[in-house]
Amino acid sequence: MSSEKTLRICKNGHRYYKSSDCPTCPICESDKKPKGGFLALLAAPARRALENNGIKTLKQLSQYSEKEILSLHGMGPSSIPKLRAVLKAEGLQFKK
Ligand SMILES: [Zn+2]
Repeated sequence: MSSEKTLRICKNGHRYYKSSDCPTCPICESDKKPKGGFLALLAAPARRALENNGIKTLKQLSQYSEKEILSLHGMGPSSIPKLRAVLKAEGLQFKK
């Protein structure tokens, strides 16, 4: 039976079962998502506001002031503390 699942161990030591020849480890895959994925913390309109302005990384975000970010269409005041926190976690901050 070619559909039988076999145990694989990826290069990071994760164990997972796959029935196909696909070498992608689902644990590594899901680990990738939160990285640089600060946009996932935001409500959809706020996320679109950043994306529409080409802001996809924290580094890009840090080139704006809080006031500029707040003025983007769709961005709510509740998003600012979240953004400030993720910036801080990366050693960054909003432009003064
Ligand atoms: Zn893995």
